[in-house]
Amino acid sequence: MADVRLTQIRKSFGAVEVIKGIDLDIPSGEFVVFVGPSGCGKSTLLRLIAGLEEISDGTLEIRGERVNEVPPDARGIAMVFQSYALYPHMSVYDNMAFGLKLARLPRSELDARVRRTAEMLQLTDYLNRRPKQLSGGQRQRVAIGRAITRDPDVFLFDEPLSNLDAALRVATRIEIANLKEAMPGTTMIYVTHDQTEAMTLADRIVVLNAGRIEQVGSPMELYHRPANVFVAQFIGSPAMNVFAVECADGRLCFPGGGAAALPTHARNAGSDLRFGIRPEHLREVEAGEAAFRGKVGNIERLGEQAIVHVEIGKGIVLVAKVDNETEARKGAEIHLGFEATHAHFFDAEDRAIAAA
Ligand code: ADP
Ligand code: MG
Repeated sequence: MADVRLTQIRKSFGAVEVIKGIDLDIPSGEFVVFVGPSGCGKSTLLRLIAGLEEISDGTLEIRGERVNEVPPDARGIAMVFQSYALYPHMSVYDNMAFGLKLARLPRSELDARVRRTAEMLQLTDYLNRRPKQLSGGQRQRVAIGRAITRDPDVFLFDEPLSNLDAALRVATRIEIANLKEAMPGTTMIYVTHDQTEAMTLADRIVVLNAGRIEQVGSPMELYHRPANVFVAQFIGSPAMNVFAVECADGRLCFPGGGAAALPTHARNAGSDLRFGIRPEHLREVEAGEAAFRGKVGNIERLGEQAIVHVEIGKGIVLVAKVDNETEARKGAEIHLGFEATHAHFFDAEDRAIAAA
């Protein structure tokens, strides 16, 4: 059991600061996902926790003790990388046993741990194989197994699924979710740029952008109550539509001439009010009830649903996710509406204006 606490953590490479003051408290047993665009500092932050990079400033505590100067192998941490980093000349068994041999664990205990882990990850039939005789998904399971046998207090994953093809990615994601249930006392920190992985695995998501935290919250909190435009557009797919709106006489005036009631909480925002609506919260309505009208551009058919691009004003394209049965045709007019509870509002600084 180990909680992890970051206080004003900073990291510079030469003159460039890439981690810019991170405060975060991770209670024991929590599954936390760091998500953010490529280059935002996710891997660096994970490597600082693992001890693979030196912390430039701030304090890292594990189990309530400062560990800034503690070497990686004494932190009670195991890490799984994107590139599995298995020993090619060793069998699956020896790869999983390697860390335990180094730790001079008695042979019977070592054997029991490796076999128990192999069972858990469905690798029992492959223990005598070499890594190159395995599929990508199996190799990643061996890498995960190697980390599990070390019985870490804190488990770190850096984009472990990104080298797998789509089907294997889903299957391995489900295995990691099972792993989380099988190891409830283990703190897990998981890095990904993939918001679906973040949404499906996390107890809590930390959204990072350019070395800073944008928001921390449960997947549903981030989806329903994003703190700012960045989070609003990062979580959810396709991204939330966000554009400037005018207000007059307690009404919202949309590009293209549509209107809707202006909720009271958005009335004091001043002149730079922006409106946000998720594609899945737009629906086709009768012309008389439409908040938005415009010409259909591209239609992407996904099977059950279709993504429709609609130009509602000069250069303003609204993306709507509608039922695949839609009558919408490229070049034809379409009328879209939404329910008031699904509207988001943002101020001039990109901050969400929360409903009371
Ligand atoms: P992410 O994992 O979110 O894609 P990284 O943590 O790998 O991002 O990188 C964050 C930033 O730090 C990037 O601009 C990257 O180029 C830079 N960076 C990472 N490692 C080093 C290093 N060893 N030396 C110099 N710059 C680095
Ligand atoms: Mg990375």
